[in-house]
Amino acid sequence: MANLDEKICIIGGGPAGLSAGMYLEKKGYKNYTILEKNDHVGGKCNSPHYNGRRYEMGAIMGVPSYYAVHDVEEFAGIQHDGPQLNRNYKNKDGKVIEPFEPSKNLMKIPRLLKMKKQVKLFGELLETKYKGYDINGHRGVSQGRYDGYACTPGREKISGENPNLKDLSMPFKKFCEMNGVELVQDIWIGPFTSFGYGYFDEIPAAYVVKYLDFQTTMNFVKCNLWTWKDGTQSIWERLNDKLCNKARLNCDITKVERKDGKVFVTVNGQVEEYDKIIVTSPLQYIPDYFDATQDEKDLFSKIDYERYDVLAVETKPEDHPEISYYVFENMEPERYGHLMVYYRRWRDEVNQVITTYALRNHTGDPEIPYETCKKTVLDDLKTMKNPASAVVNENSWYYFPHVDSETYASGWYEKVEGMQGTNNTFYAGEVMAFGDMDETAEYSRELVDRFF
Ligand SMILES: Cc1cc2nc3c(=O)[nH]c(=O)nc-3n(C[C@H](O)[C@H](O)[C@H](O)COP(=O)(O)OP(=O)(O)OC[C@H]3O[C@@H](n4cnc5c(N)ncnc54)[C@H](O)[C@@H]3O)c2cc1C
Repeated sequence: MANLDEKICIIGGGPAGLSAGMYLEKKGYKNYTILEKNDHVGGKCNSPHYNGRRYEMGAIMGVPSYYAVHDVEEFAGIQHDGPQLNRNYKNKDGKVIEPFEPSKNLMKIPRLLKMKKQVKLFGELLETKYKGYDINGHRGVSQGRYDGYACTPGREKISGENPNLKDLSMPFKKFCEMNGVELVQDIWIGPFTSFGYGYFDEIPAAYVVKYLDFQTTMNFVKCNLWTWKDGTQSIWERLNDKLCNKARLNCDITKVERKDGKVFVTVNGQVEEYDKIIVTSPLQYIPDYFDATQDEKDLFSKIDYERYDVLAVETKPEDHPEISYYVFENMEPERYGHLMVYYRRWRDEVNQVITTYALRNHTGDPEIPYETCKKTVLDDLKTMKNPASAVVNENSWYYFPHVDSETYASGWYEKVEGMQGTNNTFYAGEVMAFGDMDETAEYSRELVDRFF
């Protein structure tokens, strides 16, 4: 029997924490507190102002299958009312190309036809051989089970055995080769690697296909995308405004102690008592301020993350790109540290910033220093014939926390899921599902559904 009076502490005022608050509130819980360390909510949904508009330093877009984000929109009374997205392609030398247009790639027609066939086959394999692949979170996958909610508007509860799901722990490249669909990587790479989620030779297939399930990928292909006029940050600001308990900002949490069936949180020097705690901040760092158990220390030390660098740059009006560009050649591991995509958000105005995206780590290679990567990206912009005149904002994000294939296969998620609720502690946020707005919000929905 749920005790709706429980005092629940939520660490983090990003999509995971705020949506946890929303789903708790929808269930009747009113006694929750969201503690955010920054002076604003939104986390990696970060939309600063420039010239009377907002641009994106963090999350940019959604797709129609973002059902949890849709819940948030309904709750907060907002709509995806932003500019229509579109993009073209350049090669690494700055020449405009049309990689998917057969008439522009006569030599590549056989490959394009083969790719089309493989995409169709991949869609069928995902539905049949990998049935259950697209439910939120990773519970049971490494043991060949699925258990959760279907990725459909009705989110029906489904569960079952499917030993083939164990294949999802292998890197996506190997997974595609094993299934004879290696050319689908040409399509999946755009919204994966350039969006900072790492390279296909290193990232377990589970992350790739759970985020880029077939339906979502086709939405990207067709540019059937959602954006928000005031930026993705405004989604979470508006949600925060509607919650009965708004996030408390500028919270410096120095200690979390779990004893006597309670959770004691030291915030800005004061000890607060709670019944339960939901952690949505990076789990990797909780041993720094939690009375972490040995299991927590061992498991969370296995988390890795991407070094994903974003620059917001001004250009002279005559140098402003006419549209956003993908540079596929720079999405290969050999070109890590180069500009992979640059984004023109406002098509009706040249006096806005454009944002650039680069990854500067790849498993087995040395991490590229931040300043070196920044210089490479600015040089790449010159090569693209869209040189920057000034950098107005920059960030290197702690991005897409995840575990590697070996750790995934060894049952990392089963162990962490098995710890949910121990010491009145619950884990949510990016690493528990995937590093996008919807997967994190959806995970919070399920967490509330399962345990509260
Ligand atoms: C450049 C970029 C592009 C992206 N593009 C997209 C996109 O197009 N579509 C999409 O869906 N997603 C995108 N994302 C990913 C998306 O923004 C994240 O996956 C999502 O914000 C994760 O939500 P979260 O709440 O789990 O984590 P976060 O957004 O990281 O929020 C965590 C919150 O916890 C707070 N916090 C951390 N430590 C503490 C502490 N000790 N005490 C209190 N508070 C703490 C942080 O300040 C933060 O507010 C993008 C992200 C970036 C950076």
